[in-house]
Amino acid sequence: MKQDGRFGEFGGFYVPEVLIPALEELEEAFLRFTADAGFNGELQNLLKNYAGRPTPLYFAKRLSELAGFKIYLKREDLLHGGAHKMNNTLGQGLLAKYMGKKKLIAETGAGQHGLATAMVGALFGMETKIFMGETDIERQSVNVHKMKLCGAEVIGVEGGTGTLKDAINDALRYWTANVSDTFYLFGSAAGPHPYPVIVKHFQSCIGTEARQQCIEQTGRLPDMVAACVGGGSNAIGIFSAFLKDKDVQIVGVEAGGSAKDRLAAGHHAATLAAGKVGILHGSKTYLLQNDDGQIAETESISAGLDYPGVGPEHSFLKDTGRVKYVPAFDEDALDAFELLTKTEGILPALESSHAIAYVMSLKGKLSPATSVIVNLSGRGDKDVGIVEKYRPVK
Ligand SMILES: *Cc1c(COP(=O)(O)O)cnc(C)c1O
Repeated sequence: MKQDGRFGEFGGFYVPEVLIPALEELEEAFLRFTADAGFNGELQNLLKNYAGRPTPLYFAKRLSELAGFKIYLKREDLLHGGAHKMNNTLGQGLLAKYMGKKKLIAETGAGQHGLATAMVGALFGMETKIFMGETDIERQSVNVHKMKLCGAEVIGVEGGTGTLKDAINDALRYWTANVSDTFYLFGSAAGPHPYPVIVKHFQSCIGTEARQQCIEQTGRLPDMVAACVGGGSNAIGIFSAFLKDKDVQIVGVEAGGSAKDRLAAGHHAATLAAGKVGILHGSKTYLLQNDDGQIAETESISAGLDYPGVGPEHSFLKDTGRVKYVPAFDEDALDAFELLTKTEGILPALESSHAIAYVMSLKGKLSPATSVIVNLSGRGDKDVGIVEKYRPVK
């Protein structure tokens, strides 16, 4: 590898020997084509005319009045596909095309990354296979159907708990056996090097835009930037533009699971708040582990945050103290979902609702001049059924 793929002690590429040449080929292509005017021009054109960038930075006036400070929403919910995922799938899909690969594979949990990959597979005319746990296939049947409509094959994964972690294991296994003609389109800023670097690069448009839009609208930088953290791609995408601005406070909000369950169990489920350093999916990072070192199961109301690991750069940013990581509970995310919907007419994804929940917990604690940008990573249409179950509308 040209880069060592380390963020302090975190990251690296802990993979079977047979995958090393594929990761090297990927890194080499990534470095070459992201310095290529033709590649960048084609990607910019797709981001603008296919996906709808730039997304707006919206001043949420009524929500701000309730909070007592200024809240701006970076509207990734308006991106094609309904979430920030498309920034990465367009980037990696185009990379696959430039590398001459004809087949895409991807893992998915809630189905958002699977769907964004299936869309890009259709766009580029590539054969696409999506690995998805059987539990998730059952929970997310609408997204499964959409992926199939886009022409993708959805491969059910039976091992483990039938969720995202197991889907990644199977996708990596399949890739190991099919590296020559297959591109593995990884969904978050996690996994072995160079994926954390690649995904951050393609998601950094969120932060670059938000920084410039904030200066245009308010004349200065924000005081705080907050985003939810699953694997960490939407968060690193918006954080990346502000890491050097020492006066900008940066907060990553993890899923803490249900407050009721956690109080009963005496701990919470957030990876960075409660995890220990270990290796998962080719990367050294903080992980949720049991006392005997086994990967623990996460349990969040939002499937997109249900991952026992986190991207290695977030582990590094936690240890250096540059970014603060906090958990938000299911109940608070549901409150935030209802609040944003009622006050602004915007239905946030339950993942994004965790970030809103944290920011609203600061109500009355910040001066009225304070401005906060929240990354609204996706829209909540996919979650309406879940919200209805927990909070039936009278
Ligand atoms: C997938 C997803 C997430 C979590 O993934 P990250 O890689 O942590 O960004 C968050 N929000 C939405 C809307 C998602 O679809």
